[in-house]
Amino acid sequence: MSISGERAFSLLQKIGFIRCSGTAEELQAAHILLDELKSLGLECTLEAFKVHNYTIKKATLEVLEPYQQTYEVTGLGLSGNTPADGLVADFKYIQQASDMDLLDAKGKVVLLNGGLTVEVYERLFKAGVAGIIAYSGTVIDDPALTDLQVRAIRAKHLEVGQIPGVTLRASDAFDMVKNKATKVRMVLEQDDYEVDSHNVYATLQGTDYPEEEIAFMGHYDSVPFSTGVYDNGAGSVILMELVRHYLAHPPKRTLRFMWFGSEEKGLLGSKAYVATAEEDALKAIKLGINVDVAGPIMGEDRAIVTADNSLCTYIEYLAKEVGFSIAVKQDTYSSDSIPFANKGIPCVNFCRFGSPGCAMIHSRYDILDYLSGESLENTARFVQTFSDRVINAPLFPVEQKMPANMVEAVDKYLQKKKSDTK
Ligand SMILES: [Zn+2]
Repeated sequence: MSISGERAFSLLQKIGFIRCSGTAEELQAAHILLDELKSLGLECTLEAFKVHNYTIKKATLEVLEPYQQTYEVTGLGLSGNTPADGLVADFKYIQQASDMDLLDAKGKVVLLNGGLTVEVYERLFKAGVAGIIAYSGTVIDDPALTDLQVRAIRAKHLEVGQIPGVTLRASDAFDMVKNKATKVRMVLEQDDYEVDSHNVYATLQGTDYPEEEIAFMGHYDSVPFSTGVYDNGAGSVILMELVRHYLAHPPKRTLRFMWFGSEEKGLLGSKAYVATAEEDALKAIKLGINVDVAGPIMGEDRAIVTADNSLCTYIEYLAKEVGFSIAVKQDTYSSDSIPFANKGIPCVNFCRFGSPGCAMIHSRYDILDYLSGESLENTARFVQTFSDRVINAPLFPVEQKMPANMVEAVDKYLQKKKSDTK
């Protein structure tokens, strides 16, 4: 059975609804994938793992002085609560949270530029900041056509502590700074709790070298407001096409297919897999092949190799041999391959990035209109061509080691005080 972009696209339509970490919709998407696997006669499993979720009950922001204005905000998930009648405090725009910016920030509600990385968060915490205002979007956004982002802090932020926060639109942040707001009232009331998120697994036994394994992976969850077809329903359905291909062409090595939940919350599904897998099970994995973002009609294919540089050359030569346009580089990729690479497993990430302005992730515009079955098929076929060779090679060509520069890059990524948005 050969790879079909049309069939991939119709499965993408089926899972193309908002499916955020730990929600009933995420589980529903997992079941669609499970049903598809079962229809192919494959044994598959659903594995639950715990994630933190929250419900914002109230989130408001008012400027009290020198003018009065209420702004639309979303509460920063997991960041704690203000007193019930609100936190009334002086306001300060602290730009980049430098020492100079934070000199007199103690007890204030601060607005900052850019992402709330763990590093910045730690600085705000140490400076005794009472509340945080982050912003999303641009000053030219039309509120009717864009969504105010919903954000949450992560486990690494929580290790530092809690500072209640809200997110508002860039135009409102700009308004506050331009009009020199000095005093605000912030109200944040939320519940937090643990829920289950899920990974989906299926295995195809190798015919000749079953003890050697290749892990195919992709995340199937989305962010709020986004049907997440480009990021990453597309990778999920490409994996399903590969399942079909290898059912028809039994692989010499064992293939593990993994659809991860909660990637968008910080690679939680893949981290959960790696955390609970036996050391021997991880040792058996010779290579990780991750597909995250694909399908744009206008775009470019890339292979991001978190492994020895020789694998880049291998993929480059192969692309030339088969006539496929792909940019290859050695690097880390902010996706589920990271926890595997962190265990020393060589990984390659295949993706098709939309050309600038012609496909968007993490927004309400991540929709099928900008994708095609043909693009899915082209990417899937190249992944298959590459995979066929390594999976069926008499001697596995990829050395099971991580070069020093990639070890360093993965370490940097994992300690890197990550942005709260991905
Ligand atoms: Zn993604």
